[in-house]
Amino acid sequence: MRHHDAPAHATGIITIDLATLVSNWRALAARVAPAECAAVVKADAYGLGAAKVVPALAAAGCRTFFVATFDETREVRALAPDADLFVLDGLVGAGSDYVAARAVPVLSSLDAVTQWSAHARAHGQRLAAALQVDTGLNRLGLEPSEIVALREAPELLKTLDLKLAMSHLACADDPGHPMNEAQRQRFDEARRLLPQARASLAASDGLMLGPVFHYDLVRPGYALYGGQAFRGGPTPVLPVVRMAARILQVRDVATGGSVGYSATWTAKTQRRIATIAAGYADGLFRTSSAADGETGGQAIVRGQRVPFAGRVSMDLVTLDVTDVPGEPVHRGDWAELIGPGLSIEDVGRSAKTIGYEVLTSLSRRFHRVYVGGGG
Ligand SMILES: *Cc1c(COP(=O)(O)O)cnc(C)c1O
Repeated sequence: MRHHDAPAHATGIITIDLATLVSNWRALAARVAPAECAAVVKADAYGLGAAKVVPALAAAGCRTFFVATFDETREVRALAPDADLFVLDGLVGAGSDYVAARAVPVLSSLDAVTQWSAHARAHGQRLAAALQVDTGLNRLGLEPSEIVALREAPELLKTLDLKLAMSHLACADDPGHPMNEAQRQRFDEARRLLPQARASLAASDGLMLGPVFHYDLVRPGYALYGGQAFRGGPTPVLPVVRMAARILQVRDVATGGSVGYSATWTAKTQRRIATIAAGYADGLFRTSSAADGETGGQAIVRGQRVPFAGRVSMDLVTLDVTDVPGEPVHRGDWAELIGPGLSIEDVGRSAKTIGYEVLTSLSRRFHRVYVGGGG
């Protein structure tokens, strides 16, 4: 693994490949054409850094971005001045802030529609809006009864420029799940009751379910960043993130010796233990600790997969490197934590979570290197 972009003192490094990010977006856009491919860049572009991700995607031709919170719109608006920008959390606080940021709230209740419509009337402006309908996720979105109420109060939508009607799938990672088709039908029913607007149902996994799920616009996040959550086969994206940490010390632990807090791991024979400069403060979840008889997280040292030994602590993880062949493992060597041999899904699984949480938990103190930019 190449680490010469890291400063000599770096204890941890995260490499983010912007060229692969862009080629992932292009591959998804090609798959869904003629539908539009937007980009979901909430949570600082899933932890990868909106400041780098948004300009790279905008330069590649991405015209529509989604964030979760109003605060996130400030950064993204500055990075993509001409893009359409949707706020998934909807209208929270003063409508005038949204107008100033040219941020389009995704309205998910009759109450929110009423508020945004009143703001439009008070300012004598037609305001852009997206409407989210709930089709079974029961999280955010208008209920069928609210859609009927909206139809009976046409003056509410008259002042709004309806840019998008959208909904979100619950089980899109499982192509055999009956929820997918049921939600798609409920979405079609809801759209029949709404004014004409562009439609969007699919995120990363939903767009893999086929053209009937694409509508006018798809909203992937995770897949852009190399995520492979879809269980129906490989998706046309490649990994974007690598992460490695420096080995700080290598020691022999005699048979019966324990490793780490609470002495949960014991050497069954003499073992060679490497301590690396990464812990739960760097996104290595404590749930990937390895007590005796348990399988925890893994790292790659000199091409060989090695297991975590004992508890993950805040800044340190101990690896059992006894079985790494060849030259002894040295202080200063790198242990790969995410990379070609260790996907974000692998890391998530060993921590009893998902790759999404691995990305959004990526260390903020590791040195970050962005490669493949400006192309
Ligand atoms: C986060 C989110 C997305 C993106 O989902 P991915 O699975 O990351 O592609 C799309 N739509 C909504 C409503 C979301 O909350």
